[in-house]
Amino acid sequence: MVTKTEAIIEQESRYCAQNYHPLPVVLVKGEGVYVWDEGGNRYLDMMSAYSAVSHGHSHPRLVRALTEQAQRLAIVSRAFHSDRLAPFLEKACAMTGLPMALPMNTGAEAVETALKAARKWAYEVKGVADNRAEIIVCDGNFHGRTIAIVGFSSEEQYKRGFGPFAPGFKSVSFGDADALEAAITPNTAAFLVEPIQGEGGIIVPPEGYLARCAEICRRHNVLLICDEIQVGLGRTGRLLASAHDDVVPDGLILGKALGGGMLAVSMFLARRDVMAVYRPGDHGSTFGGNPLSAAVALEGLQVIEDEDLAGRAAELGEYFMAQLRALNSPMIVEVRGRGLLIGVEFDPAKVAARTVCERLMQRGVLSKETHETVVRFAPPLVITRAQIDDALAALREVLQSLGGG
Ligand SMILES: *Cc1c(COP(=O)(O)O)cnc(C)c1O
Repeated sequence: MVTKTEAIIEQESRYCAQNYHPLPVVLVKGEGVYVWDEGGNRYLDMMSAYSAVSHGHSHPRLVRALTEQAQRLAIVSRAFHSDRLAPFLEKACAMTGLPMALPMNTGAEAVETALKAARKWAYEVKGVADNRAEIIVCDGNFHGRTIAIVGFSSEEQYKRGFGPFAPGFKSVSFGDADALEAAITPNTAAFLVEPIQGEGGIIVPPEGYLARCAEICRRHNVLLICDEIQVGLGRTGRLLASAHDDVVPDGLILGKALGGGMLAVSMFLARRDVMAVYRPGDHGSTFGGNPLSAAVALEGLQVIEDEDLAGRAAELGEYFMAQLRALNSPMIVEVRGRGLLIGVEFDPAKVAARTVCERLMQRGVLSKETHETVVRFAPPLVITRAQIDDALAALREVLQSLGGG
């Protein structure tokens, strides 16, 4: 007998490109921190779609914003103005402290938008000779999957088979401000960095790293561009992860939770002299900044403020991390992170992170491994302490079942 779950997974594997390796669960419904499979089983979502669902699933205010706007006006392209874009961008600028924004859809598009802006700024404002601009990135980075972006990844699998790649990128060790300074030349346009590396394995840099990078960039007239697609909008306990270091970057990239867990919405925000390099026809996106996305994302930003999602992430993240450390399991090598972006590193000699995720799933908790050793705990920021306790109880049972409790 083939179950319905097996049949759906089989159908997907027949028609869908196999570029992911999902856990064998078929989800049909979500509400708040919970999702349900087609058999009616409930799971606590500790993934929140790689931090895209910070508001929780189907937040009522976002469902209302989506349906009301869908009935009014959804897409016009930027060949015309809409009444929704300006209020959304004004709010995003007011919250982040940057003066101008350029709306896109996916994270990778917003990163490309930042890279193009940095290069053009180098030629037009900084005075770098044509086609000589360099951008510095970090080892272990993750900025998306376009050819330009994977070209400067240090992850062999992201690149293999996809070359040739764009020149003009250099990579330095993450967390090492001296390495950044040593790599800067008169042709350096920008330093692109994640304040905490997400896909790299939830890597938190040494205290004060970003502040030192900001100081070095300022001294050398190099743009500091923070990719906060994953760590921004409250996830780490502040609205922006760069705020932990009191840094306002020259360029900022947001995505994931910007769409309120409803739509793909991203943006590049920047200093006025950087954004000014974009003139009509230089860059674009058919769907970027559409009224439907703008209405949902504006409501999403208001929800982040009204429900103090950053404050919740700070308080509950501290509790969650302390409890995870208190598990004191011989299988766990390290617990790290900030706010509600937490990685638990397992000893690969004792257990595969994938196995931990599969066992957690059987106990009603969904997460996903990053690399082979790290299990991510990044729930919607609306989670309660009692729900965190449920996840901890499930993890304790899993560790016991694996003989490492
Ligand atoms: C997810 C992510 C991206 C890419 O976003 P997509 O929407 O998948 O294109 C870029 N940078 C960081 C830090 C991310 O976590």
